[in-house]
Amino acid sequence: MVIVMRPGSTQEDIQGVMATLRSLGFMTHLSQGVERTIIGAIGEKRDLALASLEALECVERVIPIVQPYKLASREFHPEPSLVNAGQGICFGGAQIPIIAGPCAVEGEEQLLQAARMVKAAGATLLRGGAYKPRTSPYSFQGLHEEGLRILSLARTEVGLPVVSEVLNPRDVELVARHVDVLQVGARNMQNFPLLREVGRSGMPVLLKRGLAATIDEWLMAAEYILREGNFRVILCERGIRTYETATRNTLDLSAVPVVKERSHLPVIVDPSHGTGKWRLVPPMARAAVAAGADGLLIEVHPQPALALSDGAQSLTPANFAALVRDLRRLANLLGREIPEPAGATGPAAGGEREPAPGGCVAG
Ligand code: PEP
Ligand code: MN
Repeated sequence: MVIVMRPGSTQEDIQGVMATLRSLGFMTHLSQGVERTIIGAIGEKRDLALASLEALECVERVIPIVQPYKLASREFHPEPSLVNAGQGICFGGAQIPIIAGPCAVEGEEQLLQAARMVKAAGATLLRGGAYKPRTSPYSFQGLHEEGLRILSLARTEVGLPVVSEVLNPRDVELVARHVDVLQVGARNMQNFPLLREVGRSGMPVLLKRGLAATIDEWLMAAEYILREGNFRVILCERGIRTYETATRNTLDLSAVPVVKERSHLPVIVDPSHGTGKWRLVPPMARAAVAAGADGLLIEVHPQPALALSDGAQSLTPANFAALVRDLRRLANLLGREIPEPAGATGPAAGGEREPAPGGCVAG
């Protein structure tokens, strides 16, 4: 439920209500907007708490949260959440960060080349899979620990924060040591032990929508991460299975405004997996920004024809650079901004970070 405080209530009133809630066994979350202070409370003993809180002078209303997801809901947190992905990059505000790079880390030269090229073109974060969830067990499965080492190297040498997928709860700690954002892929959206583990890591999590997941199922998956006290969740629409075969998946851009209505979490779009065809990536990336996406994930390979996975949907660095130029103009028109890539910084793992913009959830 959410407790709406009366305008003008003091810090003492707010702390008092929070203490009462905690003593009743509720987990609390304070949301102080410009006009309103709202306290979210998750727990069991609803009726009892309702009765005692509504009697307080400083409480205006007590509203139950109707959705099955609580922490992920807009009612719980009416303002959009800003998620800090490291180096001052923030998802969910005016900025539209772009995550770009190859589907998979294939080797040192390939990844460093890709990292330099996407950075020169304006990418904000670098991506690359070290653990690849492939439909066929005979397909390239990724370089695993060697891939993580290469990602760390690229992060240090090129200075972009790194996003990479983790497939197994056992590997969360290891992957977290090498990357800035943990990706949970579409196939694992309902891998509940994995969701709990990435939640416990406290790292920013990019949670992709499942291949056949409804928006509410996706938000319930996010709830598992939030439930562990980790509010650094970025949702990613990447297309869903429909009867259409002209594209690899059907990119559900209407999910962007729907998620924004139902949740405070930032939502980004992946037009690469969403369409499966590189020619369709630029128009759908532009459409995603027009629909209000808080970021983009785009596969870029130095030589898509030689890619070990997802070459058909990967942009060349030149095509990616042209797209970023377009996106900058579009973002400006919408009062938003594609952030410039960060300068090279020292070792990213545990290294110095720029402070996140105000209000960005740091951890
Ligand atoms: C990926 O990002 O490379 C990936 C495997 O994505 P998805 O989980 O959306 O298929
Ligand atoms: Mn891919």
